[in-house]
Amino acid sequence: MENAARGAELCRCGLPTRPPVGVAWWRPDQDEDPGPGVRAVVRYGDQPQLRRVQRVDNNAGWTEHGAMVDFYQDRTPPMSWAQVARCWADTPHPVVAVRKDATGGWTICA
Ligand SMILES: [Zn+2]
Repeated sequence: MENAARGAELCRCGLPTRPPVGVAWWRPDQDEDPGPGVRAVVRYGDQPQLRRVQRVDNNAGWTEHGAMVDFYQDRTPPMSWAQVARCWADTPHPVVAVRKDATGGWTICA
């Protein structure tokens, strides 16, 4: 069985660089913005509670949110969709859509 997290396909940031299997995904540096139906994404492998990228209203870009990045939120200007792919190691990653569930947590959209 294919397992994207196995082997040497990990970026220096610790996340896989291969896309997931069985879930919709995008490569923001290569693919178009999926449109307003997608409000938030994570780099595949990231935990949305810790770090997710949310669409800014009025199509003004994307900003990171979550327990690991909230501290920096005021200093981080919105980024373009194409930039969403890039982690701190400047590697493009596939992203998957996430949404807030009824309990206020975040789940990956299948
Ligand atoms: Zn990375």
